Amino acid sequence: MMPQTFSRCLLTLLLVAYCNLSYAASKPNIIIIVADDLGYADLGIHGCKDIHTPHIDSIAKNGIRCTNAYASSPTCSPSRAGLLTGRYQQRFGHEFNPVAAENNSPIFGASREATLPQLLKNVGYKTGMVGKWHLGTSEKYNPINQGFDEYFGFLGNANTYTDGKNINSKIVRGTKLVEEQDYLTDAFAREALAFVDKQKKDPFFLYLAFNAVHAPLQASPKHDIDVDRIPNPNRRTYASMLFSMDDAIGKLLAKLEKEQLTEKTLIFFISDNGGAETINFSDNAPFKGTASTTWEGGLRVPFFLQWKSVLPKGKIYDHPVIQLDIMPTVLAATGEKFSLKNKPDGVNLLPYFNGENKAPPHDALYWRFGAQIAIRMGDWKLTKAPDKDFKFNRAGIASADGSHLYNLKEDIGEKNNLSDSYPEKVKALKEAWNLWNKELIKPAWSEQNLKEEKKSN
Ligand code: CA
Repeated sequence: MMPQTFSRCLLTLLLVAYCNLSYAASKPNIIIIVADDLGYADLGIHGCKDIHTPHIDSIAKNGIRCTNAYASSPTCSPSRAGLLTGRYQQRFGHEFNPVAAENNSPIFGASREATLPQLLKNVGYKTGMVGKWHLGTSEKYNPINQGFDEYFGFLGNANTYTDGKNINSKIVRGTKLVEEQDYLTDAFAREALAFVDKQKKDPFFLYLAFNAVHAPLQASPKHDIDVDRIPNPNRRTYASMLFSMDDAIGKLLAKLEKEQLTEKTLIFFISDNGGAETINFSDNAPFKGTASTTWEGGLRVPFFLQWKSVLPKGKIYDHPVIQLDIMPTVLAATGEKFSLKNKPDGVNLLPYFNGENKAPPHDALYWRFGAQIAIRMGDWKLTKAPDKDFKFNRAGIASADGSHLYNLKEDIGEKNNLSDSYPEKVKALKEAWNLWNKELIKPAWSEQNLKEEKKSN
């Protein structure tokens, strides 16, 4: 080898090593956008015909679109607990939505999980949250007491968007109740832009958790759409809510562009769980099931991210990933060193997206939601979810016995139970799930709590 060639190779090696340590010259801004109960089929980039989502789609087009992405829970609060900790939330008891009267939030309780906002704040990020919190309603669990410098939104599970007057009395800025006149999704856009404007000179972390498109079904007065285009009136209202969210995201992306921050901002878009089809008229096709089930329809979510200066553009990534990966990915993106008490279950996805690591990021992904279970390993999925031969019981004892086996590559709609044909596969997946399940603790909320929650909803 000629000396010149050798030195060029050495330089290349050093650059790769440097890139492994630090993906960018300076700390990137981080934005995590979460939709609520969004149907998998309801995005333009997923082939939706009756609703257009150009701004959400643009995140995928400008970066990475994950086609086998999951949430660690089929319902709101546990998914958010997993998102902010990078750990399966059942490890610290956060298996269900907290009940209205319950102020306990195990993330911030005895287990003292390390959370993304606090970790980023510790290394100098300005941290802001706008939107739905759903991780404890008492003051000590308020986002501003859990790592966020600023907060505007609501603390519970759901909120109205408008009543044409001023119904949004549960909206808080920090810990103080405020009056909000705007359609809530528009208000969240306004606040997100204000946060970016205020913090644009420093690295910032914005957690923008829309309640759209969660019930109640309330159309935006500004973004009502052509009534002839979508025949079903409920679907039309849902479309208006989704259009408002897409418009809000468009405004945020335009703001980044205006401030010349696009290149140095890592942006995620995800839904907290699958569409609640029967409640908000979302559509999870081609998947079976809805939110609150461990069918693909409850767990599979859109997952897009862009970071123009670092990640490839328009890449489709097919290996299974999970929202637990967001936290380790963000920590790696900062280039900072973090010392974590508990090892995240998620992994840093940047080397996988950049092609440095071609292996699947996970050997298996796991779920437990009361009596429902699931495990995905490669193309295979073993699951027990509400069906004609399995009564829906969220608070029952979890067991992999009686689960069904599906090959998702050949049967994306989970129609053909192959458990009788592949007993060895069932055995292997059951054993893996049982090992994982042994690491979990009991849900922090009892069956009685869940009954009370049902009554209060
Ligand atoms: Ca949800």
